[in-house]
Amino acid sequence: MVADRFSHVRGWVFDLDNTLYPPSARLFDQIERRMTDWVMTELRVVRDEADRLRRHYWHRYGTTLAGLMAEHGVDPGPYLSHVHDISLDHLERDMILAARIRALPGRKIVYTNGCAPYAERVLEARGLGGLFDAVYGVEHAGFRPKPERAAFETVFAADRLSPAAAAMFEDDSRNLVEPHAMGMRTVHVAPEAVPAPHIHHHTLDLSEFLARLQP
Ligand SMILES: [Mg+2]
Repeated sequence: MVADRFSHVRGWVFDLDNTLYPPSARLFDQIERRMTDWVMTELRVVRDEADRLRRHYWHRYGTTLAGLMAEHGVDPGPYLSHVHDISLDHLERDMILAARIRALPGRKIVYTNGCAPYAERVLEARGLGGLFDAVYGVEHAGFRPKPERAAFETVFAADRLSPAAAAMFEDDSRNLVEPHAMGMRTVHVAPEAVPAPHIHHHTLDLSEFLARLQP
């Protein structure tokens, strides 16, 4: 039974975007558009070049922001406020998901490469406000992003999370490599399975998966 694989888990770490809400909400489309606009304006490049730069940053540094900071010394605060200033109208409250998260034994946290104030807005719109013991954003990792090992170590140390007794839920399979290496149980939440040694479980539907973990 899948629940047996989680019987030791007392720390539950959830990514935010496309993990705690379905990709069909398309929030990330809005964020991506704002990231591209920001790159076009600040670096004075046309859209195609901005898209190319963003792909390069994502591959080389993990996120657009990490690339902008490394290659252009960008100030992360104004950037994060700008890209996360989006409409949450497409998010629906999910009280079943809320109940299933609440039922997990131990500490529950959110860890996103976005910023924590944005995460709090999203959680509120999903009916998940007040459910988590802590919400961490990229600012809590010194603006170093997942998938960097140092980012996970900084956030987990701040939370006093013990990886050997924790599980991580994420839609970006890259962000499960280090959690797996640190001894966490890993769950890839995504429309398509990516068979890889660092992925213990795959699910299309986070809520349904959590239902299988209930006693
Ligand atoms: Mg995500």
